[in-house]
Parts: sequence; C-alpha cells; structure tokens
Amino acid sequence: MIARIIVDVPTAQTDRLFDYKVPNEWDTLVQPGIRVVVPFGPRKIQGFVMERTDTSDVKNMKAIIEVLDPVPVLSDELLALGKWLAKATICFQVTAFQAMLPAALKTKVSKKIQVRVEKTELPEQVRILFGNGNQLDWDSLKKGEPSHLLTMKKAIEAGLVEIEYATKAHTKMKTERVVTVSDVSDSELESVQRKAKKQFELIQYLKKKKQPFPSQQAMSETKTSRATLNALLDKGLVREWAQEVYRDPTSNETFNKSEPLLLTPQQQEALHMISRPIEEDRYETILLHGVTGSGKTEIYLQAIAKVLEKGQEAIMLVPEISLTPQMVNRFKARFGNLVAIMHSGLSNGEKYDEWRKIHRKEVSVVVGARSAVFAPFTNLGLLIVDEEHESSYKQEEAPRYHTRDVAKYRGEIHRAPVILGSATPSIESFARAKKGNYTLVSLQERVNARPMPEVEIVDMREELRNGNRSMFSRALLQGIRDRLDRKEQSVLFLNRRGYSTFVMCRDCGYVASCDYCDISYTYHRKGHSLKCHYCGDEKPMPTTCSECGSEHIRFFGSGTQKVEEELYKHFPEATVIRMDVDTTRKKGSHKALLDAFGQGKGDILLGTQMIAKGLDFPNITLVGVLAADSMLHIPDFRSAERTFQVLEQVAGRAGRAELTGEVIVQSYTPEHYSIQLVKQHDYEQFFASEMRIRKQGGYPPYYYMALLTISDQDLATVIKTSGKIAEYLKRTLSKDTVVLGPVVSPIARIKDRYRYQCVIKYKHEPKLYETLETVLNHYQRDTTTKRLSISMDVHPYFFM
Ligand code: ADP
Ligand code: ZN
Ligand code: ZN
Repeated sequence: MIARIIVDVPTAQTDRLFDYKVPNEWDTLVQPGIRVVVPFGPRKIQGFVMERTDTSDVKNMKAIIEVLDPVPVLSDELLALGKWLAKATICFQVTAFQAMLPAALKTKVSKKIQVRVEKTELPEQVRILFGNGNQLDWDSLKKGEPSHLLTMKKAIEAGLVEIEYATKAHTKMKTERVVTVSDVSDSELESVQRKAKKQFELIQYLKKKKQPFPSQQAMSETKTSRATLNALLDKGLVREWAQEVYRDPTSNETFNKSEPLLLTPQQQEALHMISRPIEEDRYETILLHGVTGSGKTEIYLQAIAKVLEKGQEAIMLVPEISLTPQMVNRFKARFGNLVAIMHSGLSNGEKYDEWRKIHRKEVSVVVGARSAVFAPFTNLGLLIVDEEHESSYKQEEAPRYHTRDVAKYRGEIHRAPVILGSATPSIESFARAKKGNYTLVSLQERVNARPMPEVEIVDMREELRNGNRSMFSRALLQGIRDRLDRKEQSVLFLNRRGYSTFVMCRDCGYVASCDYCDISYTYHRKGHSLKCHYCGDEKPMPTTCSECGSEHIRFFGSGTQKVEEELYKHFPEATVIRMDVDTTRKKGSHKALLDAFGQGKGDILLGTQMIAKGLDFPNITLVGVLAADSMLHIPDFRSAERTFQVLEQVAGRAGRAELTGEVIVQSYTPEHYSIQLVKQHDYEQFFASEMRIRKQGGYPPYYYMALLTISDQDLATVIKTSGKIAEYLKRTLSKDTVVLGPVVSPIARIKDRYRYQCVIKYKHEPKLYETLETVLNHYQRDTTTKRLSISMDVHPYFFM
C-alpha cells in the first residue's frame, strides 16, 4: 500500500521518487499517472504517482492527502516518455510531465498564511494584518509594507501561523443546466393541463425534444419563466442538472464536408509508400519532400483516413504560424468532429477541453502545434510533422525537446510511421534520408503542373550606385504599380528575426564576419564594436569597408511600420494591410486581417514571418522580399538554411491559381548561394552547397552541438563561473571534443541577468550527459550560488 511519487518541486534534490502511504479508501484509485497532493516538509504539494510497491525503507512514511484525478492523466507510455525526455534534454522529470499536460491541469500553487492558534493569542501587529479573517494571501503581503513581512516571518517561526500551499486548477469545466422529462402518467399530465397552462406548454415542448435539453433554451423558446420550470421540478415531472459543455473554438464556423481528391500519379506513389508501414503496423520515418503546392496536405488527409479505418488515431503537427483557419478547415471538412485542434490561440479552457476530448477518446485526430505531440492517444497509427524544418518545433524552455524526436519516439513505441513533410527539409533530416535512415519520397511537381513562380533577384548595391537610396528597388516599385493598375494583390515580406544587427557595406555587400567561425559579427551599440558570439572575438566598428574601401558601411535593421510609411509615400492611393506582432496581438486579429486581404480589402499585405506560410489567395501575383540578407547574417550557422527556406516559402505564395506569379527578392549579396538557388527552386543543389560548408566549419549534421547558458544578476559571478565550467568541460570531455567560450551571449542581458555561454562541438562524446549533469548538480546543490542559473540545450536551434 505504498505509492512512489515524483513531487512538483523542480530542483535537483527532489528529482527522484518519494514514498507515501496510500490510505485504504483510495487503494484502487491510486495508480501510475494519477496526480495526488502529498505533505512535503511543512507544505502540501502536488505529485505524480509513478509506481505502486509493497515495501519501503522510509521510516515514518507520510500518507497521501488527496487524490486529484479519478483516472490517470498520463498513460504508462507518457510516463515512460517523460522519463526519457528528462534524460534526453537534461531537465527534471516533473518539468517533463508538466509539459505534456494542458496548462489548466498544471499546478497553480498559491500560498496562504493560516492562523494556527486562537486569534486572541496573536500579537497585536499580527492580528491587525488578518483583519476579520483567518487567512492571508502571501503574495499580497509580500507586495506590501516590508515590516509586515518581517512581523509575519516571526509569527511563522513561533508557530502561531503557518504557510499553506493551495493547489488549484486555473480553469473549471464549463457547464450548462439541462432538463429531461421524467416518466409522467397521463393523469398527472392532464392535471397539469387543467391547472397550469404554462407548465403544460413547457413539458409538451420538452417531450418533443432530444433529451437532455438545455433549460435556458427551453424556457426562452416557450416564453416560460424559471418559476414555471421550478414548479415542474417540485412536482417531480422533470429533472434538471448541470452538464459539461465544451468550449468549441470553431463552434461558430460551419464546415462543408470534403471528399478525397483523385490523386495525381506522383501523389498516389507517395501515398503508397506511406500506406505500407501503416498496414504492416511498423515504425518507419518517411521524409516527404514536395515543392510548395505539390499536394502534400491531401496526401496527409488520405493517409489519416486509412489510419482511422483501422480504428487507430493520428497526430498532425503543424507549426504555430501555419495553423491558419484555412488549414484547420481542411481537416475539419474531411473528418468533421473526429478532429481536435490545439494551438496557442486557444484559451486555457479551450485547450483543456480539446485535450479532454482526446483523453476520453471522443476524437481520433489532433491537428496542433508543438505540444500536440503529447496528445494522450493510446492507439496511434500515424504521426505527421508538416513543415518539419520549422524551428518553432524546438521548445526553447525546459524541456528543450524537438517535436521531431518526440514523434519518432512515440512512433517506435506504437509501431506507427512518422511522416516528416517539407518543401525545404532541414539539412539534418535530408542528410538522414540520403544516408537511408529515413525513407525519401519526393514530389517534384505542383498539382496540375502549375509552374513555380518566376524569381527575380535585384542587386541593391546596383540601385544605390544608380542613385536610388530608398528601401524599394525600381523593379519592385514598378511591380507594385502594375498590380495596383491591374487590381491584383501584392505581398511584401520583411524578414526581421533575431535581436542582433549585422554590419554591411551598402556598396559591395560585404558583411563583417569572424575569421574563425564564419559567422557574422554582431554590432554592439555599447562600445560601438563588433563581436563574434561563438568565439568571443571582438573588434572596433570599422569606418570603411575592408573589401572596397567605401564609407557606406553601417548596421542594419528596419521595422514594418517604417516600411508602411514609405509605401504610402510612393502609393498614397493604395490600401496596405500590415501584419506583425503589434497588429496581431489581439485574439482573432490574425484571422481578421487575413480574411480582409482574402476578400480583396487590401492591395498590399505587408508582414513578417507570419505571412510566409499558408497564404493561399488566387489574386496574389507579386511577392516582394525587402531584405533577403537580414536573416542571412544572424550569427548562427543555420542562417543560410533559414534564408533559403523562408525565401522558398514566400515565393510559394505567388501564383497559386490561374494567374502566374512573380517574385522580386532584394539583396545586397545576390551572389550568395542561398539566394541564387531560390531563383532555380533548386533544393538539392542548396543541400549540396550547404553540406560542404557544414563540413568545413564542423557543424551539424557532421558534428553535434550543445549550448550552455550561464546567467546571474552579478556579472562577476557569471564570468567567474562560466570560466570554471568551460575549464571543467575541457578537462573532462574527450580530446576531439571542442569547447568554445565562454563568451557573452548574443542577448547579453535579460531581465537584469547577465548571460554568458559555452558551445560544445563533438562527434562522439560518451561522457557528455554525465558531465553536463555533474555541472548542473554541482551548481544547483550549492546554496551559495542560489541565483545563478545554468541552462543546457543539447541540440540548440537558437544561440541567443
Ligand atoms: P502542399 O501542402 O504540398 O503545399 P496542398 O496540399 O496545399 O499542397 O495542395 C495545393 C493545392 O492543390 C490545394 O488547393 C489542393 O486542394 C490542391 N490539390 C491537391 N491535390 C490535388 C489533386 N489530386 N487534385 C486536384 N487538386 C489537388
Ligand atoms: Zn564594400
Ligand atoms: Zn568567431
């Protein structure tokens, strides 16, 4: 009668099983995957039951206080997945478990101070603080007068009052009251008819309806009052109770059922390749490389249909920004209410409802962003990662997992295939496919053989030489002018990601970069200097270009608002719809802006990343990329890859229907392969060029990388500690492993904490995990460095 529990205290000391007695009455209820409340030191906290056992070495074992779930919220499979995640990403087990559950289920611990003695026994200053009650909110006390806190602290130490940890879910179920008609004899009915006309009307109405029926609706439709219904309740002729209703995020939209399309021969071949492991109950990872518009989504839909026929379930993962209403519609139209949707635009309550539909097996398909990979299905037949190259699949806080890895883990457990789909696969995935680790399936043509859009690359250095100092090239201005005249639409894309600025010569396009790392220098306003964020090399900001001697050398960075102003100067008659973080902050505004553009209420759609995907409007015939270089020079070895990927994506927005599309890419480095190869839409060639550079620089997929970020409010502590850590790593890890740094992080300070980083590059490092854990444990157990934080990312995607 013992349960072994992981408690919800994310520290190194508590990242292990604790034994608790299971009270008799809960013996059958307490099983692995259930959340419970247990006493922990002086507190009461939440925990996850991991195992049951009969023996324990613990003396004076405490008992479970409360059981929070009637059925497990984590299946055995998800418990095992959590343990694996914790190991693979170096995080605490409880952090991994919490990441798999909807926010509404996560612990919100609010601290209350509770009076433990007769109130009259409290000292005067303490009693005043409690007013009339016996409880106080710790947080509000903390925010108030500091002397009060001190007073309270003494009272706590004296045992007069106590801190209570209350656990409560953020979100309650939403309910509505419903009624059903009881068995009513004819004589009873007649009596009602004679004595109470209104009551009779209401009961007759209900008898005709499917039951249970919403009370409110019944009353309003029959124009009867609550008193009438109460009278029926009193007589026992109807029964009423509260029934749970789901907050359906798509409830006010209608879906027309869609039928499977007749596949093209190449789609058929692809579906055949995917169907084999589905039919054979076999895990296999398939990389579906298909150009934009090649009909990948239709293949996903038909593959999912096969899985449903087998009585199994499917997970469809889509990057957050591609999870547009258009995308959701396609799945809802095919599979109706068998689909659950999960994305960050939903409220916590809505997310919780969608999660429960899966948990209760009311749906068989989930379409969702990153965290939907943890959907609590128990009979998975297929997992799909669409746009698998997207970096948003990597979670940037603990657990720092990549969705792809979790999908593959679950695919293996369930003996289900995993499809990675993309027009521009990540270099790592394509390399794996080339090596034969993944099955490669290619779709080379667009459906209906529509041509890929024509891409023109404009050399902005040339523009400057010709006296054009504006941010728009003459070709782009002419292109927009033509579209305005023809009443067609243009999309302007401003690539503005990352926080750093790079330094470039406007005459020759030369970008200052580090000789040792092949990574652009970052400009630092403070100190007016250039710095490499991999190796730490630093030099003063140059006044002239080292290539051509020009004085037109400056740092770059431009915002959408500025572009909008400039656009109106050139085209005062045009309507510009601007889409960026500022204009889409409000819930639903993203959809509203896109809908408006789709309905032709704008001539030009101007935006950042968020317009690169999923736009499928027939009237867009021009796509302009304002500064293709801005992503190329972010100090990250993946910047060329991201540039090529995003340019291909935006290019894919043009000419999707009958009208042919044109793409104009403005660049100061037009000769760069990541820009040139977009012109030919040549992924294979890009892959080959990029692989050569990765090999030279010793980057993935030839080497693995790990990133350590050390932060603290005190700069000296950060510098000292990161130096010690780097030294320890160099001493402990094998000779072939390279430890770079410590150097200041690209974002040198966040929330008043100074940040330094070390990068580890290795091919084969058996001691990696052990060494990193040693470092982590050392600093986390050391109470003198309490505020110091070390984050570890074993396959980093951002080096910020
Ligand atoms: P991708 O996901 O590869 O970008 P989509 O699946 O969105 O491509 O397909 C592009 C367009 O072609 C969509 O409008 C889709 O409805 C249509 N389409 C896909 N397959 C077929 C088909 N077999 N026959 C006709 N139209 C198709
Ligand atoms: Zn120059
Ligand atoms: Zn360097």
